Amino acid sequence: MKIQKLNFFAVFFTICSLFIVGCQSSEGIENPKTRSKTKNLKNSQAQTKVSQARNILLFIGDGMGDAHITLARLMEKKKLFLDSFPVLGKLETFSLSNVVTDSAASATAMATGWKTLNGVLGMAPGKGKKLVPVQSLMEWLRGKGYSVGVVTTTRITHATPAAFLSHVERRYWEKKVARQYLKSGAQLFFGGGKKYFNKSLLRDFQKNGYRLVFSEKDLMKLHTFEKVLALFSRSHIPFELERSKEPSLLEMTKKAVELLEKGKRPFFLMVEGGRIDHGAHIHDAASVWRQLVGFDRAVGWAKDWAAKREDTLVVVTADHATGGLAVSKNFRPQYLKSIRHSAEELAKRVQRGEEAEALLRKLGYIQKLTKREKQWLKLASLQKNGYLLAKTIGHILSRRAGVYFYPLEYGSFKGFQRPEHSGVDVSLYAFGPGEHLFGKTMLNSKLPIYLAKALGEEFHPQMKTRKRKQHEKTGD
Ligand SMILES: [Zn+2]
Repeated sequence: MKIQKLNFFAVFFTICSLFIVGCQSSEGIENPKTRSKTKNLKNSQAQTKVSQARNILLFIGDGMGDAHITLARLMEKKKLFLDSFPVLGKLETFSLSNVVTDSAASATAMATGWKTLNGVLGMAPGKGKKLVPVQSLMEWLRGKGYSVGVVTTTRITHATPAAFLSHVERRYWEKKVARQYLKSGAQLFFGGGKKYFNKSLLRDFQKNGYRLVFSEKDLMKLHTFEKVLALFSRSHIPFELERSKEPSLLEMTKKAVELLEKGKRPFFLMVEGGRIDHGAHIHDAASVWRQLVGFDRAVGWAKDWAAKREDTLVVVTADHATGGLAVSKNFRPQYLKSIRHSAEELAKRVQRGEEAEALLRKLGYIQKLTKREKQWLKLASLQKNGYLLAKTIGHILSRRAGVYFYPLEYGSFKGFQRPEHSGVDVSLYAFGPGEHLFGKTMLNSKLPIYLAKALGEEFHPQMKTRKRKQHEKTGD
C-alpha cells in the first residue's frame, strides 16, 4: 500500500512538474515556485532510479522456520535485525518428491525457478522424467556481466550453495560439485569443505585465476577485486559454540561485499546460515539459537550497508524448517543460556570414552538423568551412531529448557533416513529497491523470477537442452 501511494505521488508530481517546467521553458519565466517544482521532478526521477536494484544480497537461513526465529528473539530478549525489514512474505516449500522438502530441492527451486526432487541439485525432471540441468538466476546473471558468489557456514559444496552454481543428480556428489565450481565463473566461494578439493583441483582453481585462502587472517588481507576460493575448515565450519579460528558469517559477508563492491560491476551474492539446520537436526536448541543469531548479525550488517547505498535489494528467507521445533510453556531461557557446548561436541566426547551422565553432570547441565533419558541414551549408544547420540543429547538438554522437537523416535530409531524437516511455509523478508515485489505468499520457485524483476530483468527458467527449447517454442 505504502509503495503504491508513493508511486502515485511520484507520478502526480512528475505530471505537475512537467506541466510547470513546460510553461517555464515556453514563457522563459523563473520564479521560486517553479524552481521547487523542478526539484520535485528531479526527486521523482531519483525515486524512479532507485526503484530498480543494481545488486542483490540473498540470505538463506537453512532450516530457519518461524519457531526458530521466535526462539532466537526470546533468547536475545530483543528484536532481531531481520524483524526490522519493511516487507514480509512467505514461501511455499514443498518439493516434487514430498510435501517435506530437503535443502537440495528447495535451494534448486530458489536458485533456478524449477521445483525438483529431494536430493537433486540444479536439475529438474524433463521429458520422460529424466533429470535435466536447469540454469540458475546466478548463472544467467553471470552471463550478463554480474559478479556472483556464495558464502556459507557449511561445506561450500553443500546443497544450498551448490544449487546456485552446479548441476548434479545427487547432492552428496560433492567432489563433482567442487569440480563444476571451477568452470562456474563465480567470483567468490567462502565457506568450509576443504576435503572435497584435492591438490590438483586447487591447482586448477589457481590456474583459472582464483586466489586460495585457508585462514581468517589471510581473508582479512584481501582488499582487491579478484576471484577467491576461501576454505576455512575440512568440513563444515564448527558450530558457534565451538568456533574459534574460523571467521564468523558476519566477517565473511563483510569481506565478500567489500570485494564485490570494488569490482564496479553489479553483483548477486548468496549468503547461507547453513548450520541452523544442523542444530535443529540434532535437536540442539542452544545451537539453533546461536547459529541463528550469527546469521542475523550478518543480515543486520547487510541491511545497514544497503541502506546507505539505495541500490541493493536484501532478501532473507529459508529453505525449510527443521526438527519440528516448538517453544513450550516450560521454556527456561536461563537454562538454555547455561549450555556452552553443542550437542555434536558433547557426543564426540562421549564417543571418545567419557560417560554421558557423568559428563553432563560435570558440566552442570543435569544433576541426574531420568529413567526415560537413560533409556534414550542406551538406545543411541547401542546403535554406535554419532549423529543419533548427538541428537539424543540435544533432545534431552533442549527438553529440559522447554524447547521441544519431533519425538526422538520419529525418524530416529526407526529408519532415521527419513526427512526430519517440516512441510511448512517459511518467512521471507525484503528491504531495498524492489522490496514491494515480495510482500505475498509465493512458491519458492518464483523467487528467482522476482529477484530478476527487482533488477529490471526478465528471467525465464529454462532447461539446458535443445529438446526443451524446441518444446517450449511450440508452446506445448
Ligand atoms: Zn536439513
